[in-house]
Amino acid sequence: MAGEFDLIAKYFHRVSRQARPAAVPGLAPGVMSGVVLGIGDDAALFAPTPGTELAISTDTLVAGVHFPLDTPAADIGWKSLAVNLSDLAAMGATPRACLLALTLPTGDEPWVAAFANGFFALADSNNCALIGGDMSRGPLSITVTVLGEVPTGTALRRSGARPDDLVCVSGTPGVAALGLQRWQIGNRDVQDPAIVQLLRPAPRITLGCALRGVANAAIDISDGLIGDLAHLLRASSVDGSMVLGAELQLASLPRSSTLAALADEAAWELMLAGGDDYELCFTVPPAKLSALHAAAAQASVPVAVIGRVTNDGSLRCLGSDGREWMPARKSWEHFVR
Ligand code: ADP
Ligand code: MG
Repeated sequence: MAGEFDLIAKYFHRVSRQARPAAVPGLAPGVMSGVVLGIGDDAALFAPTPGTELAISTDTLVAGVHFPLDTPAADIGWKSLAVNLSDLAAMGATPRACLLALTLPTGDEPWVAAFANGFFALADSNNCALIGGDMSRGPLSITVTVLGEVPTGTALRRSGARPDDLVCVSGTPGVAALGLQRWQIGNRDVQDPAIVQLLRPAPRITLGCALRGVANAAIDISDGLIGDLAHLLRASSVDGSMVLGAELQLASLPRSSTLAALADEAAWELMLAGGDDYELCFTVPPAKLSALHAAAAQASVPVAVIGRVTNDGSLRCLGSDGREWMPARKSWEHFVR
């Protein structure tokens, strides 16, 4: 069985991919922006591009809590980075580097090899260099920390929504939750689009960056559209003096063809309360509707306007007959169930 240092050297320390010189105006030739020193020392050194702010985020995935125990290792590798890149997307930040803290029950080399394959498939396609991490023994758990860059002062925050903003969502939420239902009844068809969405969510990095200067507020949907929208509205409410709410139109929810066979209420439940899709939910002032369409086209990501921000502090979903409907399960909250 391979030791900790062998595994790091063999699967994670990839010198050729760490140092990606980027031409930065104002820096002397030979001075790289980004990774100055990667894996192998006591800490990595990272030089942010002048004129940018670092967006930094971390997320842990625990086996049996955040992914089913029998999830293939490559998919765990992909997803552990994807959920973190999704947080950068929601800030409008461009990924630059990441750290990986891996707790493994055993030094199972084929598992680590497959995990690294999935991890780097996503890291490489996003130019995100692995610059350090940690490895220890224990129940399977993966913590990834990401560093992204955003031009100074332009990051998307949760707190910028205003009354009358359009509430928008990317892609077709609810598909990953359907994938989880299918997985739980034994479906292991890795061609099934719902299973693919569950195992390999695509973080909306390009869209997030295109929304800078367009969206007033943004959040990524990890726990369900309604619950995450509620977080955004709460963050945007000013000291209780202005308590925001939203009115959503059920008929405007972007419904994937994967959900076509379901009854309306079952589909709404998945679209509004299903987690794990890592789409973006954001608000846009009505005057920027055409800029929104341009951003969506630039990112090649479908975006739907699903409602409006209100100032009455309540969250309502309305059917085409004007009747109110709410999902039974609002969102996933740890410790609550
Ligand atoms: P220290 O004991 O100083 O914390 P470690 O022995 O944990 O150092 O790690 C040695 C080097 O390998 C460090 O540069 C660390 O960032 C890197 N490293 C450790 N684990 C991982 C991992 N899973 N992925 C990438 N780099 C790692
Ligand atoms: Mg260490």
